Amino acid sequence: MSRKVRVGVNGYGTIGKRVAWAVSLQPDMEVVGVVKTKPTWEALSAVAKGFKIYVPEGKEKMFEDAGIKVAGTIDDLIASVDVVVDATPAGVGASYASLYRRAGVKAIFQGGEARDVAEVSFNALHTYREALGRDAVRVVSCNTTGMLRVIYAVSRVARIRSVRGVIVRRGADLKEVKKGPIEGLLLKPVKPPSHHALDVKAVVGDWLDIITYAVVAPTTLAHLHILNFRLDGGVRRDEIIESLRSTPRVILLDSAYAPTSTAEVRELARDLGRCGDIYEVVVWGDSVWVEGEEVSLAYMVHQEAIVVPENVDAIRAVTRLTDDPVESIRLTDKALGIGGWMP
Ligand code: NAD
Repeated sequence: MSRKVRVGVNGYGTIGKRVAWAVSLQPDMEVVGVVKTKPTWEALSAVAKGFKIYVPEGKEKMFEDAGIKVAGTIDDLIASVDVVVDATPAGVGASYASLYRRAGVKAIFQGGEARDVAEVSFNALHTYREALGRDAVRVVSCNTTGMLRVIYAVSRVARIRSVRGVIVRRGADLKEVKKGPIEGLLLKPVKPPSHHALDVKAVVGDWLDIITYAVVAPTTLAHLHILNFRLDGGVRRDEIIESLRSTPRVILLDSAYAPTSTAEVRELARDLGRCGDIYEVVVWGDSVWVEGEEVSLAYMVHQEAIVVPENVDAIRAVTRLTDDPVESIRLTDKALGIGGWMP
């Protein structure tokens, strides 16, 4: 495609606003506009960033009264884009699926939607090629995306027999004041596997023996996972370390002075000008334990940011801007400053 791909973002919340900004930074895409349903502070921030606002039909006056110029309705936005990134709340995206289909626009859904909302469950390292030219793909959840990157890194140097994991999930995002303050640790669900294991299978295939427990914890900063791999055959620790180091969107903390908590990693990212958003999985090097045919490790996932580059790659795949995942990842990561920032 010689012109830039035109992108609309429906749902300008935690994920939508980050995806819109990330798309605006890409050399081969442009943001036509974003959908807001209410004239909130997030709508004002969208205006301040130069995004055109589209609203549900009949809500124009509510926005105009709040001093927010409206560019059109949701239908108008959909009629003028090649791709819609749907980042509406979990389950709401499915209600828009037929609208996108009728309008002939490609749709990128998020992990809160059921698997069958799309033809492909997407992760750039695993299913980019399956997503080429598709009408609808679903970028899997933040936790699943984190696991998939680490599984990819291990699978480059070993044959994985099974994965067992504990996922400590943040209780709420920073802005979700209605969910907090929160206290306690909640096993959700009590009976494994949590949906994350099923979502990993949706991407890599049913052959993988994977069970995950998920625990909701009173924190807003990040998730922390501990995974244990059983392998077919042995592997050396340095091979795992080297594979983690060279896998896209994975950062290995291997300095003696590395931060040991999610809070410090977030603070370090801010110190280094990352606005607090960490697109990479951050693996603690010292946590990597290898013995015989077993590997264990721990890492952090910044839930608000990790799926953002995946959405950008999903746009490239469905529009066939490039058929090469490596090229898409390279372009996305360059535009977002991914990798190489951790001292
Ligand atoms: P959010 O609540 O922060 O944002 C959703 C936005 O959609 C809000 O601005 C809301 O006003 C708007 N909206 C509500 N109803 C709408 C409608 N009918 N039409 C258009 N817009 C509507 O939610 P989020 O956290 O950004 O989650 C979006 C999706 O991303 C979900 O599927 C979620 O599971 C997934 N996801 C979330 C995270 C996370 O950590 N927050 C991480 C990965 C994936």
